[in-house]
Amino acid sequence: MNNLIYLDNAATTKPCAEAVAAAADAMTEHFGNPSSLHRAGLDAQLIVDGARRAIADALGVDRETIYFTSGATESNNLALRGISAAYGKRRGRIVISAVEHASIEETASALEEKGFEVARVSPRSDGRFYPEDFVNACDDKTCLLSIMRVNNENGYILPVPEVFKAVKKKFPDIITHCDCVQAFMKLKVGAKSLGADIISLSGHKIHGVKGVGAVYIKKGVRVVPIMTGGKQEKTVRSGTESVPAIAAFGAAVKKYAPTISERYDRVSALKSYLLGKISAIEGIEINSADDASPYVINISAAGKRSEIMLHYLEGREIYVSSGSACSKGAQSGVPAQFGITGKRADSALRISMSSDTTEEELDSFAEALRDGINEIRG
Ligand code: PLP
Repeated sequence: MNNLIYLDNAATTKPCAEAVAAAADAMTEHFGNPSSLHRAGLDAQLIVDGARRAIADALGVDRETIYFTSGATESNNLALRGISAAYGKRRGRIVISAVEHASIEETASALEEKGFEVARVSPRSDGRFYPEDFVNACDDKTCLLSIMRVNNENGYILPVPEVFKAVKKKFPDIITHCDCVQAFMKLKVGAKSLGADIISLSGHKIHGVKGVGAVYIKKGVRVVPIMTGGKQEKTVRSGTESVPAIAAFGAAVKKYAPTISERYDRVSALKSYLLGKISAIEGIEINSADDASPYVINISAAGKRSEIMLHYLEGREIYVSSGSACSKGAQSGVPAQFGITGKRADSALRISMSSDTTEEELDSFAEALRDGINEIRG
């Protein structure tokens, strides 16, 4: 995998050397169960708590408010199922955006089938979300408002602080949840500045390893656990902690937290560079807003079907994604929400960069894209 050009960082990232070393250390030197009372257990617990502190510091919250999970899918399930179970008896309405990741959308649909009312707020015809639309969707019977910070398909940055502030002003009892998977370590993500009571994070999107996530739950917010058992993570999430994955998560946060602004500027410059190159190619349409996260760029490639172009690029050792990687090729409803339909949607590609992406890689991508448009028929 060393020579390939990897532009699918919204799907997953390459673990950084620090994360790999931390995971290896946890597997070889500190393999105890963090719940064990002996020394080996305590050593493992120290690793888990070190990672917890790193994540808490990054979010500007207390260490005791961070809980480890198996990934953001579980964190999102915990937020929706846990809050609706805790507060939903008398307040059975949930409000989400219409462009959420499947782990929110599918969970909301499952709750809907159980009798909860779910309101989905769409962007307006200008492709933007407005706080008042969320306020209007909420009512006294709403227990939870859940919206993502950065959309995983096109990088759109939802106005989360403005939405949460406006909603809390009118409905202070509504619990606010933010899926920050595509924002964490890329944009500044603070619990206070977002106004979020619950935040979901994932390890493998920030150069950690797969199978670990975290959830911040503000003190005083009740969440009914979805995993019951040995009462780990202060009973919020039973199950033995994956110490190697947690160690890697913590190492990645420690590595990347100090350089969020510098890396954002670097990736913004790369985005401008790439757009400058590919805008000149006939038939290319840019589906991401100018002020979207520079890490995720969605384009449509002259009506050439996404899957065909994706495999053409793969033949040149360039890896991108069509739509959302989590949907396993299934058509996502998100492009239509932003007014991208028909051939333009069928030919949508997602290019997602990391701060390690180089201009040379983008040159190769732009050249292969141009060739693909010329060579792929239909
Ligand atoms: N939320 C968003 C916005 C995502 O992009 C993803 C993964 O693509 C997830 C949640 C799920 O994360 P995980 O793979 O850790 O379950």
